[in-house]
Amino acid sequence: MTSFFNRAALLTSAALGLPYLCKSRRNVATIVLQHRFFHPDEPKYRSIDRLRRQLDWLTRTYQAISVPQLLDDLRTKTVRKDALIVTTDDARPDIYAAYEEFRSFQIPLSAFVCTGWIYSQDSSDANDLVRAIDAIHWYQGPAVKIKFGKDLCCDLSDSMRATNIDRIILESDSLRPYLEELWRKIVTLIPPKSKRMFCLWSELESLASSGLHIGSHSVTHVRLSQVSAVRRAFEIRESKRALEAKFGACTTWAYPFGTRDTCDDNTTADLRAAGFQAAFLSHSEFVSSSSDMLTLPRIAIPDGPLPLCEFKARVSGAGVSLRRLKGLGRAATYST
Ligand SMILES: [Zn+2]
Repeated sequence: MTSFFNRAALLTSAALGLPYLCKSRRNVATIVLQHRFFHPDEPKYRSIDRLRRQLDWLTRTYQAISVPQLLDDLRTKTVRKDALIVTTDDARPDIYAAYEEFRSFQIPLSAFVCTGWIYSQDSSDANDLVRAIDAIHWYQGPAVKIKFGKDLCCDLSDSMRATNIDRIILESDSLRPYLEELWRKIVTLIPPKSKRMFCLWSELESLASSGLHIGSHSVTHVRLSQVSAVRRAFEIRESKRALEAKFGACTTWAYPFGTRDTCDDNTTADLRAAGFQAAFLSHSEFVSSSSDMLTLPRIAIPDGPLPLCEFKARVSGAGVSLRRLKGLGRAATYST
């Protein structure tokens, strides 16, 4: 019921032109975040048909630019009128087919990749440290202690997993010979996935060579503001290292989960120190020449087969206007 009213509010907001009032006649860019382009509950041709109608509307309505072009415009404070940037997080396999559609409509696409998820499913490139840490982070089985190496032990109980990950990061040089064994023992406790969840490195390399911009989405898809300094540095620097080894310079970051509370002064400082020039969240707002490059907002499009009218309303910024109206309502309540 909530989603029905939310959808009705979005469509009403768009029909009343409220998103345009939010732009205040300024030049603003709209950054869109989509996770999936195809939907498992319908034939693929139907998803492709919907995507083509969305892309056709985007090309007729906006100036689609790449993430690097946006960053240049932000640096020179010349954000262009009706600029549109499309991003996708997690590198799910359907971006491989969807990218052809984006190319045919000449809309640049940027993908933010969680390197631990790719390493964990792509045996062509083993990274035992990353695979072991990713397996511990996402472990959901019984609270067991895994013996590995000569007399090493990894406690997989909820209260110890983060501590063990920090220890493995700090002692990675001495533990490295035993991390494949640790990873294999953990994955035997996890039910196998029925199908592949993410792109392979070879698929990402193919997409990158065709023009896909690739940025980091951390190693293990962690809430960056809620982990230790050791882990934070690992998530930032190890993902950057891996992506740069494969695709060249990596200076853009998308926060996993994307909410405001996933970022704070520490995450911003560490990203900047590691050489990241831009970071993206997913709170609904437009981008202007005065936007902070390390907390750039994106308009998240929900998964699922959206009607074109709802897609248009969301991309136009109906969510931005509703969020601002709620903020005004709260301010009025507090001031009375
Ligand atoms: Zn994500």
